Amino acid sequence: MTSAASPDYDESNIFARILRGEIPCKKVYEDGHALAFHDIQPQAPVHVLVIPRGAYVSMDDFSANAGDDEIAGFFRAVGKVARMLEIETDGYRMLANHGRNANQEVPHFHVHLFGGRPLGGMVRQPG
Ligand code: 5GP
Repeated sequence: MTSAASPDYDESNIFARILRGEIPCKKVYEDGHALAFHDIQPQAPVHVLVIPRGAYVSMDDFSANAGDDEIAGFFRAVGKVARMLEIETDGYRMLANHGRNANQEVPHFHVHLFGGRPLGGMVRQPG
């Protein structure tokens, strides 16, 4: 972890445990700012999660409290991972859920990268 965690950050969340090496993951990429690994329940032929090394609960926490170097390093890594997965030519979707209305399940900021097929409309209605 590269910065002081928010008091709301749960150190036992599953992605914190993956970062500490306590739980395995199918790693795609890692550097000083980010770790990328395959989602355990993929929703597209390519479904990879990219997470910052720092302890941030969500996009809201990350965008407000991460340093400029962490933010730049993280988003550079997201683009690099997409190119490594060769999904940039046909296209991909990058998605980050924050909070209750977005059904965020894991309280460590993460970006989903989806690709490998046409992904349809942007937001489906519930129900
Ligand atoms: P969220 O709803 O928080 O944006 O998405 C959390 C994602 O994490 C889900 O797509 C879920 O399948 C994935 N996930 C949950 N637990 C694990 C795990 O232990 N390993 C991996 N690789 N993915 C996980």
